[in-house]
Amino acid sequence: MLNPLKVVIAGCSGRMGHALLECVFADAELVLHGALDRADNPQLGRDAGEHLGEVSGVTVTDNVDEALKNADVLIDFTRPEASMVYLAACQKHHVKMIIGTTGFSAEQKLVIEAASKNIATVFAPNMSVGVTLLINLVQSAAKVLNEGYDIEIIEAHHRHKIDAPSGTALRLGEAAASALGRDLQDCAVYGREGITGERDPSTIGFATVRGGDVVGDHTVLFAGIGERVELTHKASSRATFALGALRASKFLIGKNAGLFDMQDVLSLR
Ligand code: NAD
Repeated sequence: MLNPLKVVIAGCSGRMGHALLECVFADAELVLHGALDRADNPQLGRDAGEHLGEVSGVTVTDNVDEALKNADVLIDFTRPEASMVYLAACQKHHVKMIIGTTGFSAEQKLVIEAASKNIATVFAPNMSVGVTLLINLVQSAAKVLNEGYDIEIIEAHHRHKIDAPSGTALRLGEAAASALGRDLQDCAVYGREGITGERDPSTIGFATVRGGDVVGDHTVLFAGIGERVELTHKASSRATFALGALRASKFLIGKNAGLFDMQDVLSLR
């Protein structure tokens, strides 16, 4: 049997961090090597498995250099400013990176792209297998429904989510736009209010719902005359994202550099 992949989890005390820890502990091909969180997190100094009643032998730390020493891959579900710090550290230690964090600026995305020339990186705003398939379905649908259909993207998430529209909604928008030869930056409409005038057929509209504990719902609506096509994905547990991130980690074995997404991980290109 191969040596288990040595995984570091950043944001280990967060909602995704907890889901990731549970999945790593359950996977014999992986071993928890490090657990990172911010300096003011109350979990610092405690065992990373404490909340699950597990003794992992890994202490939650904010010392990035220590956590990354001899690691294989860092899985990051934190905030963009933290991801940027972890990205620089991964380059320094030549550790591969899985970036699940959302809400990056265009400049930050360029930094990720540049860094991937030195370290193998999977960067995806949604790591679920179902959403990855949905992106492909949206591209196929957009190619067929390329005239006379208005495209609207509706997403719902829990009340704690801090960015909108979701990274997944934007990715779905990009998928539809690129299939139609449009640039999402030019055609996106983020919400409507007041006297908006008639809908411009070249636009792609976004609507955001926030509330309760919704893990993540996304619908891409193609509204034509006399019919509507709706492609919907609903996540019911964060395990779907965590399992996707672990699959992405294994996909990077043997790769030294390059920027990949879940389409690559699932061989959907
Ligand atoms: P959360 O708030 O529950 O957890 C965030 C974690 O990051 C916490 O442990 C927090 O202490 C840590 N953190 C925040 N700022 C930090 C900093 N400056 N330095 C170090 N650590 C810091 O959030 P969550 O629901 O777990 O989501 C985290 C991110 O993952 C969000 O961007 C979310 O949109 C994204 N997400 C992506 C996917 C996907 O499939 N790609 C799925 C779910 C969530």
